[in-house]
Amino acid sequence: MLRYAQDVDGAHSKRRSLRSAEILAVGAELTVGDTRDTNSGEIARSLTEAGATIARINVLPDRLRVVAGAFRAALRRADLVVSTGGLGPTPDDLTREAIALVVRETPQVDPALETWLRQLWTRRGLTFPEINRKQAWLIPSATPLPNPNGTAPGWWIDRPDGRVAVLLPGPPREMRPMWTEHVLPRLRERGLGRGLLSRTLRLSGIGESQVADVLGDQLLRRTNPEIATYARADAVDIRISAVGPASAARAARRGPGRSATQLLDETEALVLARLGAYVWARGSTTWAEAIATELDRLGWSLAIRETGTDGALGSLLGGMPRLRRLEYLPGGRTTGVEIEAEARATASLSRAEVGLAVDARPRRDDTLITIAIATPTGVQRERHLGFLGGVQGRSRAALLASATLLRRLRAIERAGPAD
Ligand code: ATP
Repeated sequence: MLRYAQDVDGAHSKRRSLRSAEILAVGAELTVGDTRDTNSGEIARSLTEAGATIARINVLPDRLRVVAGAFRAALRRADLVVSTGGLGPTPDDLTREAIALVVRETPQVDPALETWLRQLWTRRGLTFPEINRKQAWLIPSATPLPNPNGTAPGWWIDRPDGRVAVLLPGPPREMRPMWTEHVLPRLRERGLGRGLLSRTLRLSGIGESQVADVLGDQLLRRTNPEIATYARADAVDIRISAVGPASAARAARRGPGRSATQLLDETEALVLARLGAYVWARGSTTWAEAIATELDRLGWSLAIRETGTDGALGSLLGGMPRLRRLEYLPGGRTTGVEIEAEARATASLSRAEVGLAVDARPRRDDTLITIAIATPTGVQRERHLGFLGGVQGRSRAALLASATLLRRLRAIERAGPAD
């Protein structure tokens, strides 16, 4: 009955749109410098993309007063507070205690969660460690978030004033799916962001400063839509974002202003007219995803042999579903002529339709990069002098090989694959 009363209370709570957010990363391993806080950055990025403003990111030790204080302050300032870490079973995992203290509720073992938790052990024929019962805790205003990759369920907490607190586990492989599958969709439903829409274009073969030059100061200084460039490890990204009513119909109802979508369309066309030749993907697409899509379309698989790259191409494309073979050889093995044969050989050894061979070797301060791609339509070889040597040169070789492969696959796809 108590539960029901509170649910009704929650349903009547003010519907507040979630525009500002704060992130708390909890864990002594973070504050002593043993682990890098990667969770906050990932969460911040997806919230920003959704149009929310990140007001603060805090990294906190496992101390009840500190964590509770941070929750209390953040819940006064921000519409949404997301924490990661401190959901483990040991006494120093105290994020649950901290939020319970702040919202003045008492955690109790939730029978459904306890059953789920116990069967994780019994299924493997193990005795349930009573210490883990803590992970079945819940407070009345929290609903649990499923964790298929661990033993710590997350918590979603609705505050009476419409604010939301979300508690996620610390290990990124547990945090990530919970965030994308269970939290983000629910936040969107609740009204995340401020009508900000954004699009990202991913470029290769051009540096960030050149991109900025081509776009020019006038475009880059605009505020709505706003254009920003980012030099990432695998691409130069151009992010166009606009604030306004989401659709043209809504914009028309509100007066003469244009919708966020219209603003984005116009600006994107402008950017593409100047830089379209360098754009290889949109959004957060990775090289592996872009290449996998083309391979899927063609129904082909891929084999890779890389030489002198220290495995850089493998780290970029490894794990792709249609990758049949990935072979790394130390430098100095191939010559420019042999590389075409290498591409063919690696393909035929693994019965893949596509063979990609790349060879990177130092040339003074730079890197000489040779790439060969064998497909059922023939073999193609390219040679480039990549700017800089060492790790940067090797990573450039991997990016160049991926870009060349993607371009080739798209050209074949456009022409229609050979029989
Ligand atoms: P579990 O009980 O499943 O371990 P937890 O919520 O208690 O979850 P923590 O004990 O805080 O998580 O962290 C477990 C591990 O997760 C850490 O040792 C660290 O490797 C990783 N981790 C925690 N927080 C972060 C973070 N902010 N960024 C990256 N990795 C993190």
